[in-house]
Amino acid sequence: MNKTKIIVSIGPASQDRETLKNLILAGMDVARFNLTYATYEFCMETIQLIRELSKECKTNVSIMIDTNGPDIRVGKLKDGKAFLHQGDKIRIYMDSIMGDDTKFSINYPKLIDDIKYNTNILLQDGRVELKVIQKDLNYLLCEVISEGQIVEGCGINVPEVKLNMPFLSTKDKDDIMFADSVNADFLALSFVGSSDDVLEVNDYLIEMGNDHLGIIAKIEKERALEDIDNIIRVSDGILIGRGDLGVEIPMERIPSVQKMIINKCHLAGKVSIVSTEFLSSMETETRPSRAEVSDVANAVLDSVDAVLLSGETTIGKYPVETVIMMSKIIASAEEDINYYDLLDRSMRSEKQDITGSLVYSVTECANRLKCKAIITPTMSGYTARKMSRFRPSCPIIAVSPDEDTARSLALHFAIRPVVIPELGSFDKIINISKKVTKEMIHTENGDKLIITGGYPFKEVKHTNFMKIEEL
Ligand code: PGA
Ligand code: MN
Repeated sequence: MNKTKIIVSIGPASQDRETLKNLILAGMDVARFNLTYATYEFCMETIQLIRELSKECKTNVSIMIDTNGPDIRVGKLKDGKAFLHQGDKIRIYMDSIMGDDTKFSINYPKLIDDIKYNTNILLQDGRVELKVIQKDLNYLLCEVISEGQIVEGCGINVPEVKLNMPFLSTKDKDDIMFADSVNADFLALSFVGSSDDVLEVNDYLIEMGNDHLGIIAKIEKERALEDIDNIIRVSDGILIGRGDLGVEIPMERIPSVQKMIINKCHLAGKVSIVSTEFLSSMETETRPSRAEVSDVANAVLDSVDAVLLSGETTIGKYPVETVIMMSKIIASAEEDINYYDLLDRSMRSEKQDITGSLVYSVTECANRLKCKAIITPTMSGYTARKMSRFRPSCPIIAVSPDEDTARSLALHFAIRPVVIPELGSFDKIINISKKVTKEMIHTENGDKLIITGGYPFKEVKHTNFMKIEEL
């Protein structure tokens, strides 16, 4: 049973019942909808289907919704696309017009005030590059430095410019309300610039009375890197968006930024996610490249909590095969994780209190005795999250009567949530733990389990017991 989680972006290639069911069986832990592309109708229908199928398959697939965020996009283009030729002069209009090979409009009219001459403008994931040579009243005149095709709605990056865009647009606010209305589990905030952006969303959720939507800050702007410690502190997790980040900063910095953020998240006890281009060649082929296989394995060895698929599963030809492949690479890479090193690092940065000491001992014991699973009966998920940070070598089965709690644990390394009717007495929990483990994992007589938590279940705030059981 894998411990690193898989987030699958859902799109036209993965919306039908059979594909969704196969994605769940192949190991999808979280289904993700990016509201930049997906409509509310599409999300509502598909989320309902996923919840139905998830019950049928006896799993807890969680739902993640991404906001659009403060990004600039290209407006309407004749035939939906245009080709910008090297050396040509192009006009970027601040009012809406029908674009072609010589002009296009954008959705952020204030760009003309924010930008200076000689600034580079990047389009289409940075593949097409323009330079501003003149400013007019309602358009920017630019020269094409690197030519290429652009498509309607593609993103525009201006890494050198601090945009005066508010973090939350009216659409973003509607999108957050939508995420609340469909009872999503995670809200991924695109283009976070600072911890203030995250706090603004947090305040908005409090106003709405939503206390369980996990906030994931997407790091895809250089400015966010400058405030990374504070962003980690105020978020539930971090998504390293290598697609946009690789346009905003030199691409060659991505591997070190990935390692730095995963490490900081691990030390802070927050979830880390890496996204984009993991298995891109599987958009059209049935097998990935060797380099892609290494990329997935290296994220696992960096100790990430979850990996995210995007184009491979939204528009790719082989969404299910991609998840099966990703799952195989994860299983193999997890064999090579240095669990003792991670345990040591976790302990050194943990509070020296009862929970910290006990969770350390449970992990050490589970690793040494090669236990099949650690079971944590939990109301709020507290013990399970602590256990996850210590990176045990076996799965953590979190049994909880609270469905929201169970689904909120979907991104955490090693945690497998199971919903049970009630926590009940200590003896009952020991029996439930054994039964659930046997159902989820292949076990043999003599296999060992550790049950840990805070007893009495509903009263104590810290973890205070561990019990080793032999099957
Ligand atoms: P996206 O974000 O897939 O929503 O664009 C992730 C990234 O930019 O890598
Ligand atoms: Mn992005």
